[in-house]
Amino acid sequence: MARYTGAVCRMCRREGQKLFLKGERCYSDKCSFTSRGYAPGQHGQNRKKVSEYGMQLREKQKVRRYYGVLEGQFAKYFEMAERKAGMTGPNLLSICESRLDNVVYRLGFASSRAEARQLVVHGHFTINGKRVDIPSYLTKEGEVIAVCEKSRTSDKFKAVIEANGSRPVPMWLEADKDKLEGKITRKANRDDIDYDVQENLIVEFYSK
Ligand code: SF4
Repeated sequence: MARYTGAVCRMCRREGQKLFLKGERCYSDKCSFTSRGYAPGQHGQNRKKVSEYGMQLREKQKVRRYYGVLEGQFAKYFEMAERKAGMTGPNLLSICESRLDNVVYRLGFASSRAEARQLVVHGHFTINGKRVDIPSYLTKEGEVIAVCEKSRTSDKFKAVIEANGSRPVPMWLEADKDKLEGKITRKANRDDIDYDVQENLIVEFYSK
């Protein structure tokens, strides 16, 4: 599975926004974006006028990086979003939210999406009782995501749940931290998106 292996905090600085890619560190004063909230590189602090295309590109990159999705897969999500009924931009965000690694993170079973991805790949989760080890699996309404039987006693999960217990679970999910499971009660809609994004710019980017 291909993945980004470069400096993670650099991505937040490039996109001018905290993308919460490093778990607990993101909420602490060790966050690089807090101390150096400007673009990386020699000219990062120089203000530049960004073109229309530049803004569209940055918005697409921001969302892609937020969910840890590679270029090709993100383009496929866009095609799926276009084919669905309704508005393409919110559809795209809803598809990204439904990824299994994102759901695991949102339920508080991992401290970051990257950690969620690793836990899924290592086979720690089931969907409706069947083991699923594909982070990009798109979850559906009614499905129950649970920590698999063997992993339930692991100290790692206990520690993760303890550390992330206070993080709010979005309205479209129902979490049972004692049973170590969660349910998709409905599709995530635009109002559920809790970060700053202008999805219309992404639609414009792909519509060229
Ligand atoms: Fe981004 Fe987290 Fe790094 Fe801060 S600590 S810059 S939020 S990845």
